[in-house]
Amino acid sequence: FAALETADPEIARVLLAEVERQRTGLQLIASENFTSPAVLAALGSTLADKYAEGYPGERYYGGCLEADKAERLAVERAKELFSAEHANVQPHSGTAANLAAYAALTEPGDPVLAMELPHGGHLTHGSRVNFSGKWFHPIGYRVRPDTEEIDYDEVRDLALAHRPKMIICGATAYPRLIDFARFRAIADEAGAYLVVDAAHFMGLVAGGAVPSPVPHADVVTCTSHKVLRGPRGGMILCRAELAQRIDKAVFPFSQGGPMMHVIAAKAVALREASRPGFRTYAHQVVKNARALAAGLAAEGMRPVAGGTDTHLALADLRGLGVSGRDAEARCDLARITLTKNAIPYDPERPAVASGIRVGSPSVTTQGMREGEMRQIAALIGVAVRSNPDTAGGASRLADAADEVAALVRRFPAYGRQEVLA
Ligand code: PLP
Repeated sequence: FAALETADPEIARVLLAEVERQRTGLQLIASENFTSPAVLAALGSTLADKYAEGYPGERYYGGCLEADKAERLAVERAKELFSAEHANVQPHSGTAANLAAYAALTEPGDPVLAMELPHGGHLTHGSRVNFSGKWFHPIGYRVRPDTEEIDYDEVRDLALAHRPKMIICGATAYPRLIDFARFRAIADEAGAYLVVDAAHFMGLVAGGAVPSPVPHADVVTCTSHKVLRGPRGGMILCRAELAQRIDKAVFPFSQGGPMMHVIAAKAVALREASRPGFRTYAHQVVKNARALAAGLAAEGMRPVAGGTDTHLALADLRGLGVSGRDAEARCDLARITLTKNAIPYDPERPAVASGIRVGSPSVTTQGMREGEMRQIAALIGVAVRSNPDTAGGASRLADAADEVAALVRRFPAYGRQEVLA
């Protein structure tokens, strides 16, 4: 870090300020986490310099001996951790992993059945502003209005009516478990491939806190960040018979040189995730999310789908008469970082939204437990109800920010030394 401070003080200041931001507030974004110093060390390594187009043993560049070792370790660890026949650790992101799954299993224009974005699906599940909606024929399934859980009858009806080439399950904002066996049965009946996009919950699978999609899916795509607590990046798992198609769909179809430093960091994270402590963490992530959801309910914020089985909760704020957008801004003033989120059948436009999404991975990594979750939910309640344009509201937000600062001091995210060494 000393070298960076000398070479580029402006960027050094940004990095320092970001450590400070992460350490002095509550990070409740469901897709974020705090990576270990070991993961950060691999990310900051000279493997970043290396070109290694191709796969281990079949590269288009010389000098790939160490790159090959790193990638083989990442692949073997991913296969072992998730009991998968094949793993590709090269996708640069979850989006890149999904693009490769489309490329491996479908042709442009094919019908693809996936969850609608306003009901919790991801952009890559058929949104019109994304490749998936522009180049394919998206068909969307939703959650039931009464239970706010996936409407499996609708999924089956749509699958039989449209005969999609591929069905995707897995979501960005869905708090309940997904019935992979039911999706498998529907895919078989309709003659479709089943892709599980496990980006959000693969860390919970690694820790045994939720069931694995691997035995049910043709292809599982995921990210290595989020609950899994690795570097930002993607991964794909599949059965051996699809291995070649998946590998070709990543390179050379949709990517060039892999990011070898990120692949090394993925290997580190996968090793960390195979340790017993990770199981404890993953189970605590779910307990904490449940405690957060219950705490928000006590503050008048209705948990969507009645609660959570995973690392995230969605809360409907209409009972408090505050929009998701205002809630996000008010929480920000109290040093609580979370996202506004559409709720199913949301009457508001997405930029305003009627809900918030909260996630427990980061605070769990910090060592917080259910007691702290109750305190956090109460702080969110105060923040959401405090209008910063009134004197009383502004002072309540300032008090909440002080309480947040005191709480996170007890559970430091990073010792500054270890991150900036
Ligand atoms: N799939 C799902 C379900 C996601 O929630 C996300 C990101 O949040 C992605 C894919 C994409 O991951 P990335 O942001 O790495 O492209």
